[in-house]
Parts: sequence; C-alpha cells; structure tokens
Amino acid sequence: MDNERQIEELRAKLIQEKDRVIGYPVAKDFDYSSLYKFLAYPINNVGDPYEANTYKVQTHEMEREVVDFFAQLFRAAPKDYWGYVTNGGSESNLYGLYLARELYPKAMVYFSESTHYSVRKNIHLLNLSSITIRSQENGELDYEDLENTLQLNRDKPAIVLTTFGTTMTEAKDDVSKVKGILKKLAIQNHYIHCDAALAGAYGAFIEPRIPFDFEDGADSISISGHKFIGSPFPSGVILAKRSLRDRIARSISYIGSLDTTITGSRNGHSALFLWYAIKKMGIKGLEARYRHSLETAEYCKKELNNIGIPAWTNKGAITVVFPKVSPCIKEKWQLATDEATHIICMPNVTKRQIDEFIVDMVSEKEPVASMA
Ligand SMILES: *Cc1c(COP(=O)(O)O)cnc(C)c1O
Repeated sequence: MDNERQIEELRAKLIQEKDRVIGYPVAKDFDYSSLYKFLAYPINNVGDPYEANTYKVQTHEMEREVVDFFAQLFRAAPKDYWGYVTNGGSESNLYGLYLARELYPKAMVYFSESTHYSVRKNIHLLNLSSITIRSQENGELDYEDLENTLQLNRDKPAIVLTTFGTTMTEAKDDVSKVKGILKKLAIQNHYIHCDAALAGAYGAFIEPRIPFDFEDGADSISISGHKFIGSPFPSGVILAKRSLRDRIARSISYIGSLDTTITGSRNGHSALFLWYAIKKMGIKGLEARYRHSLETAEYCKKELNNIGIPAWTNKGAITVVFPKVSPCIKEKWQLATDEATHIICMPNVTKRQIDEFIVDMVSEKEPVASMA
C-alpha cells in the first residue's frame, strides 16, 4: 500500500470512530486550527517553567499561565503554588506521589480500591508501601475503613491518595473528611494528593460543592488536559504547594535550570494548546461546558430509566452508570465495561447520540422479549 493511501485510510477511520466514543472521557469538540503553524517549530519545555532556561524555543510563559488558571480554580494560596504541564494525569499522579515520598520516605500510602490503575504502578515505581482501602458502593472512599486502617498505622507518616472522579462511576472522595480524620488521629506527618484527572476541570462548579482543592486540604492536585478540555494529544497538569516542592528541588547546570519535572524534554505544544483552550473558554466558558454535560447526563439517565434500565449517577457527575451491555453494543459504542457500563457525557456528546444509543438498546431487548 502506498503511504498516501495508508494515511487517507487512517484519517477516514479516525473520523468514523471518533463520533462513537461515548464510553471514554475525551472531549472532541476542539478547534486548534489557528495553532497549526506552530507545528513547524521544535518546541521543548525542558526544565522548570518558573526558572531561567538556556533552551529558548519553549512556551514556559503560557505554561505558567495554565498553572495560574488552575491554581485559581483550585483555590491555591496566591504565593504558595507551583506546577507544570505534564504528559497526562498518570505523570501528574506520579509527581504528586514522588513529592510526597521525598517529604516522607517512610510513609504508608492509602488509596481506595476504585483508584485509577496508574496509581498502583506509580506506587510500585516509587517503592512505597501501601494499603488499599475499601470503597463504598458508589465508588467513593469508605471513610470508616480509612480511619480504622490509619489508626492501626498511626506511627507512620500517611500519604492519602484521593480520587475526584473515579474511572468507573465518577465518585468523588471528600478531601476535607480525609483531612478531618488525619487531624482526629493526630497524624501530623501527612500528605494528601488529589487525583482529579477528569472532574478537576469542573470541580469548582459542582453544586453543592464537594471538597477537593487546596483550601479543602489537598497538598497537590492532578488533572488531565485531553479529557474535559480536549487536546489532539495527551496532556495533564500537576499543581503542588510551592513550599513543599522547594524542599526537594535540585539544580542541573547542563540545561541551566532546576530538574524539578519527571521527564526531561517536555511537550511545549501541549502547554500552548491548553493555554489557547482556557483563554478561549475562560472560567465562564468552562462552567457552561460543565452545565451542558450535566444536562446531557440527566437526559441520558432519564432515557435509560424510561426503557427500564436502572441507570444512575453520582452527585454532580457527568458519568451515567448502568448494568453491563452486550459485547456488540460495547464494541460499537466503545464502552468501557467492568462490572457495569458507563456513558461519559463529555461536552461533545449530544442528545442525538444518546437517542441513537437508546434505539440500539431497545432493538437488542426486543428479540428477547418476543422469545419470552
Ligand atoms: C484518566 C485518569 C487518569 C490517568 O490520566 P491519563 O491522562 O490518562 O494519564 C488517572 N486517574 C483518573 C481518575 C483518571 O480518570
């Protein structure tokens, strides 16, 4: 096959598949065409975005503005935050856990069984000890189990990894409850990392508020850039308290900067693209985006309930959860299926797509009904 044809076939396939993704948290309604000209430059954000750097084909200024934007959304203390644009939520989580381990090398990590799979791998990479805490039925951390387990390990520093929007049910762990438990047990050496890969982008707009940010007690927060905001390539952001990361920063003379990031070379285009997206949307636009998704999720839940499927959502969630679907529907709609199935009503998911999905669900039910 010649190369041109192969490229065209790939493109046709991507166009076709793109519209059927309703089971994965990736927004597809973006337009970055005015940035295409930047693909002509070898942008590399190597080094710390806040430090002087000898490599100047970079977008550190935009990167800092992306960090500022989320620091404000996450109510960081005005002078006590730091962060950078990562390769995705997994790297952001790795950074949060790395920072925590550097501060408390002998700590025990606590995370719930609904935690994203990247966290276990990160804990393994960092050679940390950990204990899995039970989840409640909705996917949220079981606070009683956390308290009892912490009590038994009171002599060790505690790193608690909370999730703000679990992968399967979009459950949100309450950071202020976790903080309260650590206080009650008088565990002074503690660190809370909040994995907010999906829901961090709209967490500030959820009503009533679910505690997850710096004011609520988090020491670092991670989000993915390619999920709710949307980007042609994976990206993420890590935010941490500057006072904490200052305690572990090391200087590297080769790049004339501080080696504070997990990877060396870093994607400078993704910082630029994220910057462009948040500048275009603004906080108001991001909020409208969330309200729209929430409305679609309500619609989806109602339509599923109407055909007798017990679909449900966690409070403020854009993820609709219902019993496992058939392999055929799972393939067609690219649905992530575990013990249950979910539809994630990302901003690009339309009521029309939900209607088409409902038609498929109904037509699948019918032959069974006629057989009975
Ligand atoms: C998606 C996700 C991650 C991983 O993020 P990537 O950007 O895919 O690396 C981590 N945690 C949660 C809860 C997620 O939803």
